[in-house]
Amino acid sequence: LFVDAPLTEGASVPLDRAQANYLLNVMRLKTGDAVRIFDDRTGEWAARIESEGRRDARLVVATRLGPREAVPDLWLCVAPIKRARIDLVAEKASELGVARLVPVATRRTVIERLNPERLRAHMIEAAEQCGRTALPELVAEPVKLERLLADWPAGRALIFADETGGVPLAKAARPCPAAILIGPEGGFTPEERDAIRACPAAVGVSLGPRILRAETAALAAVAVWMAAAGD
Ligand code: SAM
Repeated sequence: LFVDAPLTEGASVPLDRAQANYLLNVMRLKTGDAVRIFDDRTGEWAARIESEGRRDARLVVATRLGPREAVPDLWLCVAPIKRARIDLVAEKASELGVARLVPVATRRTVIERLNPERLRAHMIEAAEQCGRTALPELVAEPVKLERLLADWPAGRALIFADETGGVPLAKAARPCPAAILIGPEGGFTPEERDAIRACPAAVGVSLGPRILRAETAALAAVAVWMAAAGD
């Protein structure tokens, strides 16, 4: 369970309604039962439930079980797409171990604004389900592609998913730090494609002969990358 407060031994942590309901009524846990929690800062801890009735509960933090996980330093840069689909990308990026999710505004991006709270909630739920003890960072506001390229950090590979052709992704996978860049449903414009290719860190990669939806391309690329180079 994710607890958004720095954890220390012996701390008493109040749970919100949803968390209390999940533990007491969905998981049917009761006072004294053990729970594994993480705060995305200090690592994973064992805690015990102290419940007051069926709706209120708190946790008493016991022992630290391990450090905050070290995930591969892989960013997923994706042009925002329709709500249900970007929610899927956020959820799967969390499961797959992405370190940072960067929404990118491109010429053909149709979704101008994101709901970072909703995306973060999907990432937390996915992390709890798959046992992560670190959450992906989420850049709340879409970054303009030009700005992203102009400020590209030295030493980070820019793996650009290019449906017009590129080296097979598995061949381009190399140890992090790296970023995978996925275009919007309408694709990158030719000018954008040229600007990306002009970035010294950029490697154009193919995800195969078929044109994938943006969310499929994002998740397939991250999965292939993690299998080939995720340390
Ligand atoms: N230009 C596409 C078309 O003709 O329909 C639209 C873009 S595609 C729906 C969305 C994004 O997914 C692309 O910008 C690219 O980043 C990625 N993508 C999709 N299929 C791909 C492939 N086979 N290889 C590499 N990238 C791909």
